[in-house]
Amino acid sequence: MSSYDSFGRVQRHMRDIVLPSVAIRELRSHGGTDQPLLAYGNGRSYGDTCHNDDGALVPMRSRNAILDFDLQTGVITAETGVTLEELIAHATPHGYFLPVTPGTRYVTLGGAIANDVHGKNHHSRGSFGCHVTALELLRSDGGVHVCSPQENAELFQASIGGMGLTGLMLSASLRLMPVGSLDIDERVMSFGGLAEYFDAADAADAGNEYSVAWIDQLSTSNRGILFTGNHANNGNFRIKKPTMGLSVPLELPFSVLNRVTLAAFNQVYFTSKARRTQPQIGSYRSFFYPLDTIGNWNRLYGPKGLHQHQSIIPLSEAQAVIPQMLEASRDAGQASLLTVLKRFGHIRSPGMLSFARPGYTLAMDFANQGPSTLALLETLDRLTVECGGRVNPYKDQRMSAATFAAGFPEWQKLERFRDPRFSSNFWRRTALTLPQRSLALVK
Ligand SMILES: Cc1cc2nc3c(=O)[nH]c(=O)nc-3n(C[C@H](O)[C@H](O)[C@H](O)COP(=O)(O)OP(=O)(O)OC[C@H]3O[C@@H](n4cnc5c(N)ncnc54)[C@H](O)[C@@H]3O)c2cc1C
Repeated sequence: MSSYDSFGRVQRHMRDIVLPSVAIRELRSHGGTDQPLLAYGNGRSYGDTCHNDDGALVPMRSRNAILDFDLQTGVITAETGVTLEELIAHATPHGYFLPVTPGTRYVTLGGAIANDVHGKNHHSRGSFGCHVTALELLRSDGGVHVCSPQENAELFQASIGGMGLTGLMLSASLRLMPVGSLDIDERVMSFGGLAEYFDAADAADAGNEYSVAWIDQLSTSNRGILFTGNHANNGNFRIKKPTMGLSVPLELPFSVLNRVTLAAFNQVYFTSKARRTQPQIGSYRSFFYPLDTIGNWNRLYGPKGLHQHQSIIPLSEAQAVIPQMLEASRDAGQASLLTVLKRFGHIRSPGMLSFARPGYTLAMDFANQGPSTLALLETLDRLTVECGGRVNPYKDQRMSAATFAAGFPEWQKLERFRDPRFSSNFWRRTALTLPQRSLALVK
């Protein structure tokens, strides 16, 4: 038994695990254990898609060998417990970088595929799954299924963004991206309100590999900073050894992130970034992974943890709905440490139930203050669903089954490929409470 928390740390208790070697042996001998299983990567999901309290977790992190790296094509094959940080360390001396990276490098390859994660370049590269060329999936029929766009294509599509429900991914191949440097040529542009941001977003995406905006959620003007970046061409592929960074060593008895501290933080952050009018060459770590520099920063939210709400709002609705969502969060008296806005482009993922699709995505982090936070999250769900948007399952631990079904009306397609021996708290709490419809009617 171990806690195997998710990043939000709202539901914390000891959890049963089955070691990968045992799970693999049992699954290979047709059927696996009596209890449902679910792979656990590195627990960087915020909610309960990586939990399985009616069964056991299979912690995959120890299976992290790099199996092959083709320097000509940039295709790297590894066991799925390898982290993105380990992939970067292996590949960048040869001039390659991840084609898509989320905002933390402590995610495993398996977790990145199972949630089909996105980065700051969705407009130019799509989601992580667009770059997966093959994977090996162990299912409770005892077989290791090699899946790719050409072979077992439907199982491949179901596993990308399949939230671990199709079986245990043992290894995967990913096509990396050749780059001119690990360094990022970064520009910042401050804006006084969202209208300015929306005016600039198209050009920012068209002219740059990466673009993302930070919003001062506590300011009624919705001011913010638009960050754009491209890999520099200075040939720097050196990875600096991590220095002894800051870390939150202990569980704090309360959240230090409240309206007062965050208003002060936002003021300092906005002013310091807005002053930077010249382009700057910076490290990939500070551009992609600023929060990784503070170890265990989620402890700042105190013992009750945090909720992240991430939505996608259709392009045609975003200019009206996103200001309403920010206003709703202020009216509720809740402060978000990190409010991020980004436009997803039109590159389709092979994933059957992937989160990312065209639209603007807004993410906000809130300290868990119990019923008042839950009420705000419900309001944000309603605003999202009413305009035809969707809420991100792998950031969630409380959305209703109806909210999930509204955002993912095709959920039953994944249920068709779910391994009967695999399940999760999220899936039981949402999909499995919904009425089943004939698959012919599923969008
Ligand atoms: C600071 C921070 C920033 C983030 N930024 C982003 C972002 O920019 N974009 C984004 O998309 N996400 C982002 N995330 C979320 C994170 O990228 C995803 O939740 C990711 O999937 C977590 O991967 P993990 O390895 O920790 O897996 P876990 O969270 O442990 O598990 C995630 C899912 O993967 C499944 N899984 C893991 N390994 C396997 C396997 N071997 N076989 C089958 N299934 C498996 C699990 O069952 C589970 O369903 C961020 C998270 C944090 C904490």
